[in-house]
Amino acid sequence: MSKYITTPIYYVNGEAHIGHAYTTFIADSMARYEKLKGEDAYFLTGTDEHGQKIEESAQKNSKPTQEFADEISASFKNLWDEFEISYDKFIRTTDNDHKIGVQKAFEVMYNKGDIYKDFYEGHYCVSCETFFTEMQLVDGEFCPDCGRSTNIIKEESYFFRLSKYEDALLKHYSDNPDFIMPRSRANEVINFVKGGLRDLSVTRTSFTWGVKMPESIKDDKHVMYVWLDALMNYITALGYGTTEENMRYWPASVQFVGKDILRFHAIYWPAFLMSLDLPLPKHIGAHGWWTRDGEKMSKSKGNVISPKQVADAYGVENLRYFMLREVPFGQDGDFSQRAFIDRINSELSNDLGNLLNRIIGMSGKYSDFEIDSVDVLKYHKKELDAMNVVLDSLDTFMQNFQTHRYLEELWKLFSIGNKAIEEHAPWVKMKENRKDEALATVALVANILAKASIMLHPIMPRTTNIIADALNFNIDNSSYKELVLEKKLLKLFNIKVVPPLFPRVEEPLMPEAPLAQPNATKESAQEVEKCSREQDNLIEIGQFFETSLKVGLIVAAEEVPKSKKLLKLQVDLGEESPRQVVAGIREFYSAESLINTQVCVVANLKPAKLMGMVSEGMLLAAKDEDGLCLIRPEKPKKVGASIG
Ligand SMILES: [Zn+2]
Repeated sequence: MSKYITTPIYYVNGEAHIGHAYTTFIADSMARYEKLKGEDAYFLTGTDEHGQKIEESAQKNSKPTQEFADEISASFKNLWDEFEISYDKFIRTTDNDHKIGVQKAFEVMYNKGDIYKDFYEGHYCVSCETFFTEMQLVDGEFCPDCGRSTNIIKEESYFFRLSKYEDALLKHYSDNPDFIMPRSRANEVINFVKGGLRDLSVTRTSFTWGVKMPESIKDDKHVMYVWLDALMNYITALGYGTTEENMRYWPASVQFVGKDILRFHAIYWPAFLMSLDLPLPKHIGAHGWWTRDGEKMSKSKGNVISPKQVADAYGVENLRYFMLREVPFGQDGDFSQRAFIDRINSELSNDLGNLLNRIIGMSGKYSDFEIDSVDVLKYHKKELDAMNVVLDSLDTFMQNFQTHRYLEELWKLFSIGNKAIEEHAPWVKMKENRKDEALATVALVANILAKASIMLHPIMPRTTNIIADALNFNIDNSSYKELVLEKKLLKLFNIKVVPPLFPRVEEPLMPEAPLAQPNATKESAQEVEKCSREQDNLIEIGQFFETSLKVGLIVAAEEVPKSKKLLKLQVDLGEESPRQVVAGIREFYSAESLINTQVCVVANLKPAKLMGMVSEGMLLAAKDEDGLCLIRPEKPKKVGASIG
């Protein structure tokens, strides 16, 4: 059976960031895994290049739009090539084949009556390139997704009859509970559809940088709206509407997306496919976002890291391992150098690297680098059985995209190997003249390493090829079949000496994220940074007192319409007038219960804008798995009293 794995096409409005790298690493690992198993797998990635935002960005950079798109698209492609991403095709929505395919799809839907022309009047967010209904707006004006102001726009548009597919979509979700993965994400999609689907505007007349209308529908004013154009890439890449060359790969086995674009992939996309009479993808895999040291990455904070920067410092394979090991699929992940270095030193260097070094060392000393597996079964049946249990358990995790569990289980093999060496102490057996036994243990561990590197190959292709080379075998479908499926042992190893694969990392190899200290000079920031590294992130007392903490009294509280999380509070800090504080505590406190209670407020934060509302402070709160609670003075204190 063929397999088809896709990443989203990345929008060429900026450089690749760490989240793009994560999506691409998971998809690449899945594709490599399927190919290792001998499946006929096809892996697609690429770039999304149309839309008003690209047109505007090109103008800002004083470049022709195509040239601008070419440059950014190439920066993605070059990065993936440098990272040895094993894509079978890199599609661009400016490719001619793609445009023809989209026009064909439009024509099919139009002829079927699923696309019609009308007028669109709505509140438009330029930043999100999305129309919203009055109902969806926050305070009648602001975009519910990004909080920016919207404009009222009326324009002629073609519409896709999304409403017609409401029931069919709901039926599909309920018949296929694994369509959206992880399953926990399905509810938000189902609720959105149950809330009623409006027909979808699929063309624009307000800009020109998009796929033109099909010639059969003579209407040059319109270009296709980005989502119709973009989503079609998954089939035009296979030749839909042109050669049809690779359409046998459709439907996709899994389409990986970030959780922010799940709605488009789990609602619009399947509806388009139903209209085209094409089968739906097996799974839409929605992953979470990445923070850095617990904070959202943003240009203004100066804490954005590029995947290239990390790969240059730590190696791309270590980065792949870290990202795929660190986060349960679907949840948000945090990038911190401390966690990264811990995994390199303890898991890669200690568990895996050392095991290989020990085998190289012992085989050289005891048997001139030649290891025979003839006595392994005789002395190590227990370890072989344990190893086979682990090997049998792995596939399920990969099928559920749980790379973190997959790697966790896989690492048990190295424990089995390291434990066998400790328990059987081959160096003692050598002294006692029990060479057969000593060599059996060395051969056991060599076999463990061989099998583990086959299974680790999809995650760390380059590294595992070096291990295979050191053990003198090849990682491919036939070694997968023999050593993993059929559980055979490699008869003979000719061990080759290779340099240590994972040198220990003693200190961070990249500058730490800048501290949130707007006034600190560069030197003092560096000093503090050095100090905090040495002393386990301790800070100076002065740093603490830079935060102004005050006792406040909540004098008014109300819910923020359209927001499940936010409450708008007026907090008296003993100043001229109460401050407005917008706090994400609605899930834990009702507005009424807060009025006339005291709280602790961070009083010298720069004001922030949430849902179009200014927030002039932050409440202290503690959060654990049972929920959130506010931190309050033990007994009432004077309003505005300082805390420290
Ligand atoms: Zn918006």
